[in-house]
Amino acid sequence: MSKIYMDHSATTPVDPEVVRVMLGALTDSFGNPSSIHGYGNQARLAIEKARKQIALLIGASPDEIVFTSGGTESDNMAIIGAAHTYQSRGRHIITSKIEHHAVLDAFKHLERQGYETSYLPVNRSGQVDIETVAQAIRPDTILISIMHANNEIGTIEPIGEIGKLARSQGIVFHTDAVQTVGRIPVDVKALNADVLSLSGHKFYGPKGIGALYIRSGIKPAPLFYGGGQERTWRSGTENVPGIVGLGQAAEMALNNMSERSAHLQELAQALNNRILNEIPQAYLTGHPRNRLPGHTSFVFLGVEGAAMLVFLDSEGIAVSGGSACTSNSFDPSHVLTALGLTKDAAHSSLRVTFGKDNTYADIDRLMEVLPGIIERQRLLWNLM
Ligand code: PLP
Repeated sequence: MSKIYMDHSATTPVDPEVVRVMLGALTDSFGNPSSIHGYGNQARLAIEKARKQIALLIGASPDEIVFTSGGTESDNMAIIGAAHTYQSRGRHIITSKIEHHAVLDAFKHLERQGYETSYLPVNRSGQVDIETVAQAIRPDTILISIMHANNEIGTIEPIGEIGKLARSQGIVFHTDAVQTVGRIPVDVKALNADVLSLSGHKFYGPKGIGALYIRSGIKPAPLFYGGGQERTWRSGTENVPGIVGLGQAAEMALNNMSERSAHLQELAQALNNRILNEIPQAYLTGHPRNRLPGHTSFVFLGVEGAAMLVFLDSEGIAVSGGSACTSNSFDPSHVLTALGLTKDAAHSSLRVTFGKDNTYADIDRLMEVLPGIIERQRLLWNLM
């Protein structure tokens, strides 16, 4: 049975060209970047090349990029680090209810340390309203963290406006751009971001590597102490193969972005049309237009989402419900319930996220099996 992968918001396959440069880093550039000799120098040069590639992708300057172990670490460093540094100005921090757990749990951690937190609601499409942000700001607010695009529903947030508001009030603004960097144009200046998180495995790079953009002048405290690598922002011998792979993935994402994005948008549109026309009681979740290219998410009332995923997997089709990171849990998705969906509706979700190598034939295959799976489940549900 041939297999079809349509879960690119969870992770993407590593591009063969990225693998090639990573192999070079594992074999040729194996030196410790902190060593004085030629081996060290070669590894150091490879890191600096990658730093430039990442900076170019997001409109930053290379010295504003710090390599981390991925999106989770970047989010934690941005939030916990900024809260720590700026606590003398106040201890109130703001985020939204639909953030990734890497952000929400960092906020919970700070709450336990005595910080006061505000979790902003979103509308039915999953967007944070700028007025709601303005009303939540207090004289002691030191940090606002709102994601650029949501992983479960694909909705893109009005980050430029929120960043502008934060900047005008002297509040540090962080955005989790893990779902957008490498997929849509991201410009840290246009977004008015002070700190921005990104992760390699969302755009055909390796897992376990990411970066944090830190605008010049902003100083989140480091999470790790030790050898003082990354200009003391992030101690620990650098993951040179990962960093080199991240840089290569960034360069390729930049060169291919408009072409890939058009392809993804067409696939998503085609699947939307078919699902909404061919499956009764199917609803799109998230914003109908302002969303990540290639991202579709639905609820099918009267269907158990987890069972649907298992049946699709047995047909060789890999998709997800909600996000991969929460799919081990039986709690309804915090994102879907924040949109106002009932627990049952939140349990009936399906997310199909396309990648550069998907085709219309993949949609045909999905639509050959999905309506039957849903119909059988609804029949069962009615018998219970
Ligand atoms: N933030 C968002 C929006 C994500 O989608 C993810 C991963 O799913 C993360 C953060 C965590 O990134 P990583 O897997 O690189 O730790």
